[in-house]
Amino acid sequence: MIKQEDVEKILDATEIIDVVGAFVPLKRRGVNYLGQCPFHNEKTPSFTVSPTKGIFKCFGCGEAGNAVQFLMKHEHYTYVEALRFLANKYGIEIHETQLTEEEKKTKDKKESLYNITEFAQKYFSNLLFNDSEGIKIGLSYFKERDLTEATIKKWGLGYSKDSYSDFTQYAKKNGYPEEDLIDSGLTISKEENHVKYDRFRARVIFPIYNIGGRALGFTARSLSNEKTKAKYVNSPETDIYSKSKVLFGLHLAKNEIAKQDLCYLVEGNMDAIMLSQNNIENVVATSGTALTIDQIRLIRRYTKNVTILYDGDSAGIKAAFRAIDLFLENGLNVKIVLFPDGHDPDSYCRMLPQHEFKAYITEKAENFILFKTHILLEEAKDDPFKRANLIKDIINSISLIPDHIERAAYIQQCSSKLNMKEEILSNELTKRLRDNFFKLKKKEGENTEEEISQEIIPIEEEKREKQVIEKEFSDEAQERGIINLLLNYGDRNTTQEIDGEKESYLVAAYVIGDIVNDEIVFDNKDYNKILEIYKSSILDKGKLPNLNLITNHEDENIRKISTSLLINNYKISDLWQEKWGISVPTPDNQELIDRYVKECLLSLKINKLEKKIQKIKDEIKTQENEDDILILISKQNSLLKIKQIIAKELNRIIT
Ligand SMILES: [Zn+2]
Repeated sequence: MIKQEDVEKILDATEIIDVVGAFVPLKRRGVNYLGQCPFHNEKTPSFTVSPTKGIFKCFGCGEAGNAVQFLMKHEHYTYVEALRFLANKYGIEIHETQLTEEEKKTKDKKESLYNITEFAQKYFSNLLFNDSEGIKIGLSYFKERDLTEATIKKWGLGYSKDSYSDFTQYAKKNGYPEEDLIDSGLTISKEENHVKYDRFRARVIFPIYNIGGRALGFTARSLSNEKTKAKYVNSPETDIYSKSKVLFGLHLAKNEIAKQDLCYLVEGNMDAIMLSQNNIENVVATSGTALTIDQIRLIRRYTKNVTILYDGDSAGIKAAFRAIDLFLENGLNVKIVLFPDGHDPDSYCRMLPQHEFKAYITEKAENFILFKTHILLEEAKDDPFKRANLIKDIINSISLIPDHIERAAYIQQCSSKLNMKEEILSNELTKRLRDNFFKLKKKEGENTEEEISQEIIPIEEEKREKQVIEKEFSDEAQERGIINLLLNYGDRNTTQEIDGEKESYLVAAYVIGDIVNDEIVFDNKDYNKILEIYKSSILDKGKLPNLNLITNHEDENIRKISTSLLINNYKISDLWQEKWGISVPTPDNQELIDRYVKECLLSLKINKLEKKIQKIKDEIKTQENEDDILILISKQNSLLKIKQIIAKELNRIIT
């Protein structure tokens, strides 16, 4: 890991114009710079870089972020890799925590496993083209499957001979130690009878690569019809290879996935290879394993949009159902294409002309609601019991989506598709969200009363559940409003009245002061983190925090929230507009800024008060001791009075 003080040095030194300018020609346009967007094809430049805010934004495709995010997107670096790149660029020395002897050993071990795997890959590939058995059996198999020689070479495919230990002997002769051969899984050692033999024998070989294109392991397919032989043999888990953490073909597909902002997901290696040969290069395969969260994270580095291409048989449908929920849960948009029964993407792609296949996978792609409805409606027909289960199944999928606005949109679609009232579906969703929440809490083992009364929806009646959910949403919006205010207007001045005296304050100082004074606590963890950064900077150091440190924060959520608020400053007012009829000011109108500061703070307070009052109301219901009830009621009354005063003030401002 890089030390925090070095991270700060790097971020302080970073000039976004330098970084983006190295990849995209930029021209000065007023305070900003303009260029051709590297993330989508455009004729007129709409890619804008703001040196003062340290961020970029494309008004064509919406891509946006800071210097680190630019490198992560453009060069597909990880966060740490991007920081290293910048440190190098600005000549900043990085102090990494020293490697211990043990760590050094693992590093060396990994390197030798990589070397052996690369050596084996070349060996198998050589046999395919230059050995009579390899040509006769391996190469002719691939050619029968319509693979061109260029494709075979591009993917590094190979053949392992029908021999006991040819590879092991050859590798040893070339200086690779037996111990490493066994650790790499290429050689199998049977201790009891002291034999060492090749894992892969008489099979065609598909190498598996990491993102950088280094071979990590192999999948080998048997060509014999003997039933005793496993059809596929895979490399075991090693220090460099873990099958749940790789996607077959990602090293070749990643740039195209990012460019097209779409990833096709198939099951078989041959499916991926065949599609790529037919100019659909944004494709990866799970390579015969069930989809994992690590694999989804890999995809998410390049795009949020996935289209699953699976077989239309019952196994394919089952796998698709499972994959859908996993993708939704991880915030990706997922569509599904099934192939006619008996076909897989490989065979269907070989059957149709290129443009027809492309049209098929584009036109037949259904979002998960449509897909599930089609499949399940067919099964359920008019059986009301089965229909109810179908609705539950779909609602369950919707409940996994993290974003509430997306959830609402899907409920709408579901309502029209199933011809059911939106209200009924929303209620079902609310129940499901509550169940999920309880399950999660149970899992985390923090099932405390207080948390539940604050966050969870009372069980009584569904109408009230809905109200609470709506309140949760608006509560999030109030907190976001404050963060937006700090980020975008924190450095401006505002004139406010305290104890009858009008005075000019720095917006951030006034807001923070007010929040600290009223002991307001944020519920949203991420907003709270940003608030804390402001608090400590303003209260301890008496100055604004460096925006760079927030937009480049080590926490991904903080980076995302801050850049998107900085960029979408003029769009986020929708929720405000709805509730209070407030619009976000244009930056140059001082009077509007003063008003906006006040409105933000007052609405936040009203919301927090409403929450407190609700909590007391709930307490009153469960309390049996009369004295305690009286105390609670008087508490409630004084809060209601404060609320009235604030509401009056708010009304005065906005009308
Ligand atoms: Zn763009």
